[in-house]
Amino acid sequence: MRLLRTAVLSVALALTVLGGCGNSAASQPATPPPTADTRVYECPMACVKPGESEPYTQVGPGDCPVCGMHLAPRAVPPPAPAPVPAATAPAVPVPR
Ligand SMILES: [Zn+2]
Repeated sequence: MRLLRTAVLSVALALTVLGGCGNSAASQPATPPPTADTRVYECPMACVKPGESEPYTQVGPGDCPVCGMHLAPRAVPPPAPAPVPAATAPAVPVPR
């Protein structure tokens, strides 16, 4: 009886270890994909597709559908300047 109990414990322990390994491996987050390029790309020649009024742009790298050049990431515009405080605005005399 004692042997049987030991065997059962051993099996249980082995299952726990194996199960634990499997669970830990399964719970590991999948390798994150490479950082997606969400920048807006545009053609260096600012090509405009027929029928459109704006230069062609797309999210992510690629080739210009018009001239075939490699698209270049569009420069990020600088942040808008802070608004001028109203206190510095010259006072306009109100005509009476
Ligand atoms: Zn182009």
